[in-house]
Amino acid sequence: MTETLFTKIINGEIPADVVYEDAEVLAFCDINPQAPTHILIIPKKPIATVNDIEAEDAALVGKLFVVAGKIAADAGIAEEGYRLVVNCNAAAGQTVFHLHMHLLAGRQLSWPPG
Ligand code: 5GP
Repeated sequence: MTETLFTKIINGEIPADVVYEDAEVLAFCDINPQAPTHILIIPKKPIATVNDIEAEDAALVGKLFVVAGKIAADAGIAEEGYRLVVNCNAAAGQTVFHLHMHLLAGRQLSWPPG
């Protein structure tokens, strides 16, 4: 996979407002927030898109949800509600080709998304 700016964030070469980190997962605030809370949750393993997830990644990808729930609980937004979004490829608007989950909260989110 081609290195993306998220690799640079993982490696500390680009600064980010980190809200969670462990050996496998990093979460940080989106630089262009679309809601009062907008956090990106990424695996440190460089997986480009949902299409590139392998069976061996199942636990790692599942952990993104576990971390999302923990971040929401810690931020006090779990009960109010939040949205998790994963864009895959151009039609969905993916711009960074390193798998990431958006956590959006803090305002009423419309449905369906645009
Ligand atoms: P995508 O459109 O690929 O689903 O989401 C990529 C996200 O990465 C966008 O919401 C964008 O604002 C965010 N982003 C792009 N560059 C940077 C950066 O340098 N730092 C941070 N924290 N977020 C970024």
